[in-house]
Amino acid sequence: MAAACGLLDGAGNPKPTIFTEMSALAAQTNSANLGQGFPDEDGPEWIREAAIEAIRAGVNQYAPGRGSLDLRQAIAAHQARHYGLTLDPESEVLVTTGATEAIAAALLALAGPGDEVVTLEPFYDSHAACIAMAGATHVTVPLVPHGGGFRLDADALRQAVGPRTRVILVNTPHNPTGTVLNLAELEAVAAAARAVDAIVVTDEVYEHLVFDGARHVPIASLPGMRERTLTISSSGKTFSLTGWKIGWVAGPAPLIDALLAVKQFLTFTSGAPFQRAIARALGTGKAGGDADINALRDTLSYRRGLLMDGLAAAGFKTVRPDGTYFVCADASPFLSAEVADGAAFARWLPGAIGVACVPLSAFCRAGSPTAHALANWVRFTFVKREDTLRTAIDRLAGLNGA
Ligand SMILES: *Cc1c(COP(=O)(O)O)cnc(C)c1O
Repeated sequence: MAAACGLLDGAGNPKPTIFTEMSALAAQTNSANLGQGFPDEDGPEWIREAAIEAIRAGVNQYAPGRGSLDLRQAIAAHQARHYGLTLDPESEVLVTTGATEAIAAALLALAGPGDEVVTLEPFYDSHAACIAMAGATHVTVPLVPHGGGFRLDADALRQAVGPRTRVILVNTPHNPTGTVLNLAELEAVAAAARAVDAIVVTDEVYEHLVFDGARHVPIASLPGMRERTLTISSSGKTFSLTGWKIGWVAGPAPLIDALLAVKQFLTFTSGAPFQRAIARALGTGKAGGDADINALRDTLSYRRGLLMDGLAAAGFKTVRPDGTYFVCADASPFLSAEVADGAAFARWLPGAIGVACVPLSAFCRAGSPTAHALANWVRFTFVKREDTLRTAIDRLAGLNGA
């Protein structure tokens, strides 16, 4: 099964993800690791204290299968407050082991052999792996740079969606490109889904990490989309607590029930004390985490500027991300016969100057037109301490002489 889905290498070992490979290389070479996108500072202390309190208070056994009710209520309130989406916490919210489990449960529950699942390309690696595990066929719509940003091609979307399309899986704000889909793009996805009666599954884990006044709009909030959309998010990116793996999915009760049927045999439940703490973090006003979210966004906005300036000074062409914590850069000026594309550049860079990044081809299907179009592009993350970013920028400045 794992072999059939392309998850093993030729020797039968699990293929390491590109993030694992690049982080190992970064560690060996003592590089500033701007490859793997995890924060190097922990989330707010009061939220961590809330988890410790929950453990001391005896919240240490299985949480309810759908997640603890206080967290489901907090998620429903969060969706109402930010997006005007009303959800019944009893039947329309499911707590999962990170967004990762929600994505897996959604694809295993909703798609199978003969079904097509449409995603953007480049795409997050787990999306492709879960489509393969579900036995469904992966169809992609390119997101390529033009007019300064990576934008969705509505014609390509219309062509990709057809009678076999069961799920359109959309990630916005988008990893790796930093694109925040605009209203016209979201409406194109919604129209395509309605045309063939497909379900939309959205991965919105960067929902709060948007910059320069960009606005994240969940597709579920567009007219007629609530009943066919599953909205997935997670506390990992929002609160810099990626190790806790508290995620969730919200949508109509019959779809949530279908996911629950799968989820109960994936993990059953997880993270009871962390659920309690995230229920408080999602709260509003002085008792909640809104101020922490705003502070993280401000810090990231500053670091985005720092990294973009550094990359530009080093000679890279970049695309300004409206969201997430990644900047994509075209490494073409630094390529040669020996270091011929973005993947080779990413493998070469740590040893050469002590900086790690990841190639965009790792987010594409091998040999696809998008993989070809983005062959020279790499992704740098700015969710790192300022001193790490400055070290990386100093080292990148030496690239022309390297
Ligand atoms: C980090 C990430 C996830 C994983 O979220 P978890 O809550 O850690 O499981 C899912 N989707 C995207 C696009 C991500 O970048």
